[in-house]
Amino acid sequence: MDIRRFFNKPRSVSEDPGDGDRACVSEAGCSYAQTSEEIDSAREANVSPVEASRQQRSSQQASEPAGDLGIDQPNQVVKKNYPSSLFSGKKRSFHSAWYTNRDWLEYSVNADAAYCYPCQKFRAPGSSMDSAFTLNGFSDWKHAVEMGKGLNKHAASKEHMLCATMWKDKEMRIATGREVSTLVNAEQLQRNRYYLSSIVDVIEFLAGNHLPFRGDNDSYASMSDDGCGLFLSMFEYTLRKVVLATIAQSIPHNARYTSHEIQNELLDNMSTMVTEHIVTEVGESFYTIKVDGTRDPTGRETISIVVRFINELYEPTERLLTIATADQGDAATLTDTIVEELSKAGLSPRRIISQVYDGASLMSGKHGGVQKRLQEKLQRDIPYVHCFNHQLHLVVSHALAAEQAVLDFFSTCNILYKFCRRPTVAILYKGERLKRLLEQCWTGHFGTVCCFKII
Ligand SMILES: [Zn+2]
Repeated sequence: MDIRRFFNKPRSVSEDPGDGDRACVSEAGCSYAQTSEEIDSAREANVSPVEASRQQRSSQQASEPAGDLGIDQPNQVVKKNYPSSLFSGKKRSFHSAWYTNRDWLEYSVNADAAYCYPCQKFRAPGSSMDSAFTLNGFSDWKHAVEMGKGLNKHAASKEHMLCATMWKDKEMRIATGREVSTLVNAEQLQRNRYYLSSIVDVIEFLAGNHLPFRGDNDSYASMSDDGCGLFLSMFEYTLRKVVLATIAQSIPHNARYTSHEIQNELLDNMSTMVTEHIVTEVGESFYTIKVDGTRDPTGRETISIVVRFINELYEPTERLLTIATADQGDAATLTDTIVEELSKAGLSPRRIISQVYDGASLMSGKHGGVQKRLQEKLQRDIPYVHCFNHQLHLVVSHALAAEQAVLDFFSTCNILYKFCRRPTVAILYKGERLKRLLEQCWTGHFGTVCCFKII
């Protein structure tokens, strides 16, 4: 499967935001520190978010002398005892029971006074709003809940009902995702996605072409330096796109998404997507597993697991499901690893219809090999097939070994290969490069024969 085709999906963001968006892009970095309300206000007042933020803060300082009132919702402080004051010789105080059926009411501990949340937030500038509940604070506890006075009078006022309606409307818009600030954030979200998708593109290209990612330096600052590696070099090249470069300027310095940790995380995510695609392709089909192992340079046993199945077009299809590392190289550990990896990917081991390995006793052994242990583990018969490719390899190897002239030929080729690899010779030799000859992989032999054929 070609990974480049697999991930070849259209961008979700237009390449060229209109003029109206540019201001937003250039100031997007600031929006992270702003509340949605500030951005909302900026939109409505047609000023920049930064300026709106400044204006709003200064107006809040003027209108909230108490300083401890609610920001996103009423601050309904509940206390057992509130400070009391003398009213006609009798001590009176605020009571938390007054919050009942008055969700707009809030209490400031600093000012020992009651305020109205919606009237503070939604009153029209210069309106004749009752200042007791917005600026000064209401503390006439004697008449607080009397009919037609105090809290009840305020709740029945036309101005309060208007502000309360605006408050509830705003809450409903937020709940249904129609709030203006939500839409503004969605634009920023879209830009962030565009930025991240550009990084994913670079990773996809490098991974798809088996190219190394990193060089000597790994920081955003060293992006244009020599030795910063292909990932950062390519990203720097991509930044020549004006739109992306503009967005990149607005990305916070601590969230560039270019570190090697992020590269690995994105690679993992892409790997998961490929695996999920393969599992979807296999669907409910029975499948064959083809497993082969080798030791990596650190001595750990690494196994490749291939699944072979009939796809929905009834074509035999093979997919490399994963390359896993086993803790040890014995048959029991390998069997466990195979079953675990299949399960982890989302394929049921119950649907294995046959198993294909090389002829090594570790894999094919009738008594203790992986093929036997897998059948025991899954408690059913799963035919083992000696891999045809490996069989063909054995045929070729044995055929070559049986003919002395062929042996001499490849022996000479091997000597020539080693000779040409010497540094002093390699500098001068400009001819066709001979291939390395490996006993377990005869493609090198074929390549070598092709070299001589050309000569
Ligand atoms: Zn009010």
